[in-house]
Amino acid sequence: ALVVRHRMRSSGRSAKALAILRELEEKCGAPVGRLRQVADAMTVEMHAGLASEGGSKLKMLISYVDNLPTGNERGWFYALDLGGTNFRVLRVQLGGKEKRVVKQEFDEVSIPPHLMVATSHELFDFVAEALAKFVSSEGEDFHLPPGRQRELGFTFSFPVRQLSIASGTLIKWTKGFSIEDAVKLNPFAVSHVGEDVVGELTKALERVGLDMRVSALVNDTIGTLAGGRYYHPDVIAAVILGTGTNAAYVERAHAIPKWHGLLPKSGEMVINTEWGNFRASHLPLTEYDQALDVESLNPGEQIFEKIISGMYLGEIVRRVLCRMAEEAAFFGDTVPPKLKIPFVLRYISNTSLKTRKVVVEVCDIVAARGARLSAAGILGILKKSGRDTVKERDNQRSVIALDGGLFEHYTKFRECMESTLKELLGDASDSVIIEHSNDGSGIGAALLAASHSQYLEVEES
Ligand code: BGC
Ligand code: MG
Repeated sequence: ALVVRHRMRSSGRSAKALAILRELEEKCGAPVGRLRQVADAMTVEMHAGLASEGGSKLKMLISYVDNLPTGNERGWFYALDLGGTNFRVLRVQLGGKEKRVVKQEFDEVSIPPHLMVATSHELFDFVAEALAKFVSSEGEDFHLPPGRQRELGFTFSFPVRQLSIASGTLIKWTKGFSIEDAVKLNPFAVSHVGEDVVGELTKALERVGLDMRVSALVNDTIGTLAGGRYYHPDVIAAVILGTGTNAAYVERAHAIPKWHGLLPKSGEMVINTEWGNFRASHLPLTEYDQALDVESLNPGEQIFEKIISGMYLGEIVRRVLCRMAEEAAFFGDTVPPKLKIPFVLRYISNTSLKTRKVVVEVCDIVAARGARLSAAGILGILKKSGRDTVKERDNQRSVIALDGGLFEHYTKFRECMESTLKELLGDASDSVIIEHSNDGSGIGAALLAASHSQYLEVEES
């Protein structure tokens, strides 16, 4: 009788766990109809964000990049890529149209977690020191014309209100960075409050005695777009699916009412959408997302990012498993203490096969939702660009440069995103190409530093 009762109890438990699982599946559902609504809402918000400053949760930031790389860029340039868990320093030799990237050297440094929540002064000092160390490793072949300063493209993967191609103020931190003295809490402020990001970096460079000029300040999406365009003329947008998520694309300058500057010669302007901050009533949100958001460093913000990107997927899964453990004794009679630690989830072991299958299913449901929503976001951008339908006799190709760890290393996520995009595009899907731009953002920043070099005019005249 004891055995029977035990079996009954454990089957009652697994029934409860399965009920939680099915409920999750239902709440995370993102059928095609809903994805189309998300894409449409994204397009509407894009228009609103372009119309006026603060007109939408989509900031639609003007990048001041109105010309993308052509291949003609030449010389030695540096780049610094800051914004995830690692930062990279890069040195490239650009050889013009024929030779392209002649040489490329880089170093990757992980950011000590305490610096992600320190002061910006400390963070920038750390970065400047790593850069100085990297500069000291210049080889025999490194060469700058006499009297010429080293130049750097700075990829800073946070929302920045640019004042020019090489200056701008941080709007807010995202992705687990929480650095008090640099937060500009008023996103509607048009004029720049406090310090400029490039100014801060420049001062840190001076403190370590490094003579280097920051020639371009770019978001990672902008860098990826520039890096992608360098190799493929059909690249029209870039998407990051990594620790965070975001997209940039090429817009017609006269379709940007809030732009009061001169109309660029190219007639184009690259826009950083900051789609991570998108939210719409159509988004399939669960109680787990709500709790995660409330307890996050930036409650109420980056909602799209919090259901898509790598920083949060594991945390959502942890919250689901925690509920299963608490309400259905899913991992035995007690809740594993580790499961209660926020952001702890990397892998799970010491469980039965049956338990692991459920865990895998939780991961799949949460990842599929993120992948399908990112496909909807891409559809939104294609729609805004008038590239979501095939035009007869129009040999148009739209290449989207993709980068980020989620896209690169999470095969299921990537495949799901790609097949969903196909499904959404139907007949037009052959004209849209997803291209992995491996670490394009660093090269892209170096390319933009080259095209915005202080020596350019001198050389051209
Ligand atoms: C930031 C974006 C960035 C994206 C990908 C987001 O959290 O707000 O600026 O492009 O992460 O790194
Ligand atoms: Mg990156």
